[in-house]
Amino acid sequence: MIRIDQLTKAYGHGPDAVTVLDKLDFAVDRGEIFAVVGPSGAGKSTLTQCINLLERPTSGSIVVNGQELSSLPERQLREARRRIGTVFQSASLFSRRTAAQNIAMPLEYLGVEPRETKARVAELLERVGLGHRAGHYPHQLSGGQRQRVGIARALALRPSVLLSDEATSGLDPETTRSVVALLRELRDDLDLAVVFITHEMDTVLQVADSVAKLEHGRIVESGRLVDLLTDH
Ligand code: ADP
Ligand code: ADP
Repeated sequence: MIRIDQLTKAYGHGPDAVTVLDKLDFAVDRGEIFAVVGPSGAGKSTLTQCINLLERPTSGSIVVNGQELSSLPERQLREARRRIGTVFQSASLFSRRTAAQNIAMPLEYLGVEPRETKARVAELLERVGLGHRAGHYPHQLSGGQRQRVGIARALALRPSVLLSDEATSGLDPETTRSVVALLRELRDDLDLAVVFITHEMDTVLQVADSVAKLEHGRIVESGRLVDLLTDH
């Protein structure tokens, strides 16, 4: 579903070049949550931006549904980005828009018909358990509810890949558990390939099917979570 092949990102040139991601390889199937876990400075943000198609890799490829995306010309990138929905740390909602308006934004931006937008937003609110909060502004919602809105917004364009960028960081343990439960439910119901990027190993243990440990831009260990746990 999403395959990362020999993904390398370097900044600068010649002797000043710094390799931030060094030949990463992994693949995430539909219906699978794949966690990338690593400490600060490991390269998580850079990886996120490459998968998001906001940064171009120096070399290597990102293949979604069989199509190589990272080297597409600029004008085709916008379309390609629809296949990847991103959930951001602290949800990153627009504070002057309601939950429903935040979820509608990607649809409005694409020029989806208002009637269709309304129906899809209502469905997404239900899906994340916020059918009763459509008209609430972000400050009227709890941290967990805001993150649910962020997840619904990420799903608005029906992506096949959901990219979670520190989505549970800063949430308390109970709220984290409920967001994790929602992600697992969505993985199953929508058959999503979820890439879950985090510095929190505790959360990885709750959420992931498979995991890669990232250190200094390299994957130092990876595999099914159950296998990694029984090996140690
Ligand atoms: P993480 O998100 O895991 O903390 P980052 O991807 O932010 O890691 O950074 C990984 C490394 O890449 C760090 O050493 C950082 O200084 C370096 N880095 C990130 N962006 C740039 C850039 N634009 N130019 C040079 N180095 C960068
Ligand atoms: P069906 O059950 O008819 O095969 P799906 O399971 O694919 O349909 O989808 C059920 C509902 O979930 C549909 O209304 C569809 O719009 C929605 N949906 C499917 N995939 C996604 C996705 N990736 N993101 C958001 N909504 C989705």
